Amino acid sequence: MDRERLRQAFRSIIEAIGEDPLREGLRDTPQRMAELYAELFSGIDRDPGEELSVSYQEGGEGDQDIVLLRDVSFYSLCEHHFLPFFGSAHIAYLPRGRVVGVSKLARVLETVARRPQLQERLTNQVADVLYERLRPEGVAVLVEAEHLCISMRGVKRPGSVVVTSAMRGEFSSNAARRAEVLALLRKG
Ligand SMILES: [Zn+2]
Repeated sequence: MDRERLRQAFRSIIEAIGEDPLREGLRDTPQRMAELYAELFSGIDRDPGEELSVSYQEGGEGDQDIVLLRDVSFYSLCEHHFLPFFGSAHIAYLPRGRVVGVSKLARVLETVARRPQLQERLTNQVADVLYERLRPEGVAVLVEAEHLCISMRGVKRPGSVVVTSAMRGEFSSNAARRAEVLALLRKG
């Protein structure tokens, strides 16, 4: 992350909107924004799957129950406007023997959220990382988020929520399993 270029770029933005970058309140803003962006985009070169490297055997094949983590709050930035979108994700998987600590599911979400994102892609990336690394029977991810680029401008509908989902494996191909997990994800 090139903090010096970020600092210069934010100084240019301040000038371009017709403000004075030396005004007291704005003087340290480019530096602050450089630090902020370094943090908000810290997931760009990170492998979200590294969180899943430690898994453990739990039960045998074929006798597994759905593992569900509900209401995982997250913040990301939309890549079209660099404005936040935020809300909660519900993440479920059907283990094939191997499981991970549930907090790891939230860490996967956090890593992919710290990139310029689209909600659809974020949802799919969480599902794909879990599906590829844990090799479970199925993965289901449901994300509900408010986008400030919608709420703050244009159509101006504060509070409207965008819902996306991604299903893999059994939750995609087996109608009964799909209905079961959707009922669990939507509860609450
Ligand atoms: Zn946007």
